[in-house]
Amino acid sequence: MGLIVQKYGGTSVGTLEKIKNVCKHIKETKEKGNKVVVTISAMAGETDKLVEMAYALSKSPKEREMDLLLSSGERISSALVAIYLNEFGVKAAALTGRQCGIVTDSAHTKARIKNIDAKKILNMLEDNYVVIVAGFQGISEDTGDVTTLGRGGSDTTAVAVACAIKADVCEIYTDVDGVYTADPRIVEKARKLDKITYEEMMELASLGSKVLQIRSVEFGMKYRMPIMVISSYTYNPGTLVTWEDENMEKALVSGIAHDKNQARITIVKVPDKPGTSAKIFGAIAEKNINVDVIVQNASEEGYTDISFTVPRNEADKAYDLLKSIIKEISASEIEVRKDIAKVSIVGVGMRSHPGVAAKMFGTLAKEGINILMITTSEIKVSCIIEEKYLELAVRALHTAFGLDKE
Ligand code: ADP
Ligand code: ASP
Ligand code: MG
Repeated sequence: MGLIVQKYGGTSVGTLEKIKNVCKHIKETKEKGNKVVVTISAMAGETDKLVEMAYALSKSPKEREMDLLLSSGERISSALVAIYLNEFGVKAAALTGRQCGIVTDSAHTKARIKNIDAKKILNMLEDNYVVIVAGFQGISEDTGDVTTLGRGGSDTTAVAVACAIKADVCEIYTDVDGVYTADPRIVEKARKLDKITYEEMMELASLGSKVLQIRSVEFGMKYRMPIMVISSYTYNPGTLVTWEDENMEKALVSGIAHDKNQARITIVKVPDKPGTSAKIFGAIAEKNINVDVIVQNASEEGYTDISFTVPRNEADKAYDLLKSIIKEISASEIEVRKDIAKVSIVGVGMRSHPGVAAKMFGTLAKEGINILMITTSEIKVSCIIEEKYLELAVRALHTAFGLDKE
């Protein structure tokens, strides 16, 4: 008998039929004597539909209202699951983020969880309820307004709740049967991993593998919560995200990630003097836009060009705010390029092996793919390339680093 948190993603609850299947699995888990908390995502496509409706009415809908709107998707699916569980003879109750005291900061549309009221959930478990927690949402600590946790945020709700109630495991049910060496939708020869370290999973998630939201892995690592990624179709053992141990494959490269949500901004002819970068990046940080790769060219006659990448869906916002900044710092112009993407290799084995980056660059060169920007850390190398070459790059790297299945 254990304390289990299960999270079901959008495709797993995409139709009423699928909701019934999920409820069957929840019931079985409960009947094995476990206490069960369930986090539910919005039904597949629902969040996108709501976003589309908002943008049909406004070019820049207020983020506070977007959060209220988008949080409704998870309310609907959670309530439907609770309704069917009760119908099915399982005592269950659904809670919104507010109802179970998920308090976040006030960064609307990408809020971070600060606290969860574990007592309420634990009391309900004690009363023999299956507790259904609506994913992806909380309330702002400052204003009490509804916030959301960023796309894919139900993963984070699930793992954060699991940590708060000290569950034995957090099971993430989705439409793939685990974490693969690359997105199996792009690389046919991708292999399923039985185990992956938190560190590697965090890199893969932050570099674009959307199978888990990065913050869910951060929570897991911080509180040592085992996370299991499992198929909601087969329920076969999937991939365990856990600590590095001796039995783990120490592959040089464990996975390839890709991310199309990228844009490059170049500020041309920036006076090369102290304070200009601070002005540019200070303004961007103030608007909560994440900057990723930054490259500054060698100075020529007192001027330099600065290029950096931002999420593509925030490039227009960055451009608008930089228009006034370039006047302030007397730079010449801003160029925005949206047809780029990022491909990355990740692996803890890289720490002790030089030459991995060179092999990556060589592989891309052999395919005739030009590298626009490069960034590295201890366990990853990322290249920005033209988007049209992305799938070719992912496949070529997958083969070059020996990841293809037999
Ligand atoms: P859910 O709705 O269940 O949260 P997501 O669509 O957010 O599901 O995440 C699952 C998807 O992640 C898969 O369908 C797959 O295409 C994609 N994906 C990307 N990279 C990987 C990877 N390395 N391993 C497994 N799936 C991946
Ligand atoms: N419904 C939200 C999204 O589509 C959150 C999630 O599914 O995890 O991003
Ligand atoms: Mg997801």
